[in-house]
Amino acid sequence: MLDEVKVRQFTELTTTDPQNELGFFSLGRVYLEGGAPREAIAPLMKTLAINPSLSRAYVLLAQSQIAVGDPEGAQTTLLKGYRVAQEHGDLMPRNQMADMLKEMGSSVPEETVAQLTPELQAAGQIQCRRCNRVGPKMSERPFGGPLGEQIHASICGPCFQLWIRQGTKVINELRLNLTDVASQDVYDQHMKEFLNLN
Ligand SMILES: [Zn+2]
Repeated sequence: MLDEVKVRQFTELTTTDPQNELGFFSLGRVYLEGGAPREAIAPLMKTLAINPSLSRAYVLLAQSQIAVGDPEGAQTTLLKGYRVAQEHGDLMPRNQMADMLKEMGSSVPEETVAQLTPELQAAGQIQCRRCNRVGPKMSERPFGGPLGEQIHASICGPCFQLWIRQGTKVINELRLNLTDVASQDVYDQHMKEFLNLN
């Protein structure tokens, strides 16, 4: 079921601000989730034209291309997106795209990943849930509550720094007001997706 309210909201955002990558991304996602993959393709391509490093946009674009019967287009998108996700340490989109490529019968370049040994763990290292790299734990929790605890226990410092930058963009581009519950939900959803939590 297409969410017409959100379509209007994100169309307005991207019309008044044509460089709003997250506005275009959100518009594409609403179309895809609402069963309109054909309409999702243009805004997702626009997202990637503004920011070619947004890994999640490749996943949604390829899903849309598959849904409209364009497997060649999807494969091109996935091969490019896989490289981008690899470079940026975006583990979840990278794995999703690897699975999609395998399903299409396409080969996927393998990568060897350092594993967290008990010795490294004892020395205060963690294996980051977002990038899968082994690195030092942040010196303290980024904020209070169970989510702050979870992030401290499972996300490396460089990934959390990347989220701070991305989170600012989420607030500005989607015009969130964090004193309001709906905005807070949108912000949390973006954070959990970005950090590969849940
Ligand atoms: Zn990380």
